[in-house]
Amino acid sequence: MIKDNIENVKKVIEEIKGCSFEDSGITLIAVTKQKPVPDIIEAIDSGIKDIGENKVQELVPKMDQIGDGVNYHMIGHLQSNKVKDIIGRVKLIHSVDRKSLVKEIEKRCKSEGIIQDVLIQVNISKEDTKSGIYVEDLKDFLDYIEGFEYIKVKGLMTMAPHYEKPEDTAWVFKKLKEIFEDIKSINYNNIKMEYLSMGMSHDYQVAIENGSNMIRIGSYLFGDRIY
Ligand SMILES: *Cc1c(COP(=O)(O)O)cnc(C)c1O
Repeated sequence: MIKDNIENVKKVIEEIKGCSFEDSGITLIAVTKQKPVPDIIEAIDSGIKDIGENKVQELVPKMDQIGDGVNYHMIGHLQSNKVKDIIGRVKLIHSVDRKSLVKEIEKRCKSEGIIQDVLIQVNISKEDTKSGIYVEDLKDFLDYIEGFEYIKVKGLMTMAPHYEKPEDTAWVFKKLKEIFEDIKSINYNNIKMEYLSMGMSHDYQVAIENGSNMIRIGSYLFGDRIY
């Protein structure tokens, strides 16, 4: 079943992009929060190469059990005191959203001689339940990060508000894509726009149509989560 769901997502991507999934340039992150390791293994056996978790205390034991061979992504809010547990072990931290966190990542990476790639989380919709830098504060934030060495920005991430109709989300994705291209055209020191992480189970098609190249899919692949 997980395998079928993965195949379905890939098929949808192929239809939108008009090429094979492999050539589409889209990274499919399977979001495995609250899902047990056997489900994750099944996903990996079905071709998943990227795993996303939103809590360090769930991510670390899963990384320990599953081991190398896949990329791990920290996609949820990251407390500064947990930075040391994941640096050098995750491909990307998607949720860099404040200067104090940047400082902590830099400090820890420097002392261990690790380079950590990150995305900046942007709060486009300004919903106060969502974290992320506001668009108007982004320039200042980028200038700040440029001064560091061990933290490398590789792109942007956002969480769109939940609209009944996924199409209604398009403006959020369009806006972030625009910002992504703007930043790309500027020559920053250690900031490169490679990944645009946007789109979840409900709205990933709209996200891809509007420029996403990294989607984070949980419930569609693994079923609903029980809170
Ligand atoms: C849970 C989560 C997802 C996946 O959400 P689904 O709706 O289950 O696909 C994506 N991104 C983040 C940051 C999440 O916390």
